Amino acid sequence: MVPVEEAVRSARAIAPAMATELVPIDLSSGRVLAGSITAAADIPGFNRSIVDGFAVRSRNTIGSGDGEPAHLTCRGRIAMGPGGKHYHLRDGECVYIPTGGILPEQADAVVMTEYAEETAGIVLVKKAVSPGENILLFDEDFRKGEVIFAAGRRLTPQDVGVLAACGYPHIPVAKRPVVGIISTGNELVPVTSTPSLGQVRDANASMLAAWLTEYGCIPVFFGIVKDERGALEEAIASALPACDLLLISGGSSKDERDITAGVIAARGEVLIHGIALAPGKPTIIGRIGGKPVFGLPGHPASAFVVLIAIVRPLIDRVLGIEQPHLRIVKATLAENIPSVRGREEYVRVRLEQGTVVPVFGKSGLLNTLVKSDGIVCIPAGSEGFEKGREVEVILW
Ligand code: AMP
Ligand code: MG
Repeated sequence: MVPVEEAVRSARAIAPAMATELVPIDLSSGRVLAGSITAAADIPGFNRSIVDGFAVRSRNTIGSGDGEPAHLTCRGRIAMGPGGKHYHLRDGECVYIPTGGILPEQADAVVMTEYAEETAGIVLVKKAVSPGENILLFDEDFRKGEVIFAAGRRLTPQDVGVLAACGYPHIPVAKRPVVGIISTGNELVPVTSTPSLGQVRDANASMLAAWLTEYGCIPVFFGIVKDERGALEEAIASALPACDLLLISGGSSKDERDITAGVIAARGEVLIHGIALAPGKPTIIGRIGGKPVFGLPGHPASAFVVLIAIVRPLIDRVLGIEQPHLRIVKATLAENIPSVRGREEYVRVRLEQGTVVPVFGKSGLLNTLVKSDGIVCIPAGSEGFEKGREVEVILW
């Protein structure tokens, strides 16, 4: 059994190279940037007002207040957008400006309409403004040449708004890796079937596909395969040319009935078989024809833990993600969590009134996956965590 860290290292070492593509901006949310994005020009590009009001020379408003307003001559009204009249303000003058309007060159501040009163071409300013007040400078949002986003960032809808404002209709992103999925087990039937005695529905294929889709991959399901060497070999042979990496769930133990490792070894190489991880010990990392092939444990909860602990770091590399963005909360343990020294343990936990409650359950159970909010990782060198200890919960 190899430590988790070593397994992650070997998984990352066999990651296929990242491929990139340009996608239309409106399809870029959730995708991972393949290169950094730099501001090609200053944003907003011109000095603008951020309120409705009167553009002024701030020194003309010094000392003005409710009782003693400054009197400024209103020169007119600035229109939104380009092509409007250009005003050259002199001392003692102001001009009406809407939010987002171009600030006249001689003005250095805007008095909000709430503090101004316009009558017969004269504006009474009832509040002094300081230089720069209520305006946005031409390069205040982003300066030309500034790196807005570094490569490896997973774009959010807010990011997409900024990219649009900066004039990027197409975004360079990492190509979505195609991940093949094979489920093995004589007892498995598809979700559409009613299991007869001894059969269970295939939970892994849908679970893996759902996670992979959300993480930015393209899952392709290659079916349920019986625990027979020939059948598995055939399925792998037809899956591999169509995918960048392959996940095979079930049959990954060292028992002689478990054929996955043997088949991978016959067609390629097994790099690791058995990881000091609980749940998730019977995991295989291998390679066929240069492509990573994982054998995941059949128990859905174990398969899921291996997916996020071992497979995800490889996918991160393919996508160019340096540090995965994990949602982590810190809270104190409500109960002791014993653990066996020598393996990294991922304990499912639920958050309850600010404390962390372990969700213990036998390994075949599905319900622990949905009754938990996330996991607490107990390092291999520890015999567990005591009640009251502050722990980090990695939320699902
Ligand atoms: P295995 O890893 O093949 O020894 O399977 C361990 C357990 O996981 C057995 O109880 C299997 O029935 C179950 N199992 C294997 N594959 C799946 C799957 N795709 N969906 C649900 N349960 C599975
Ligand atoms: Mg099986």
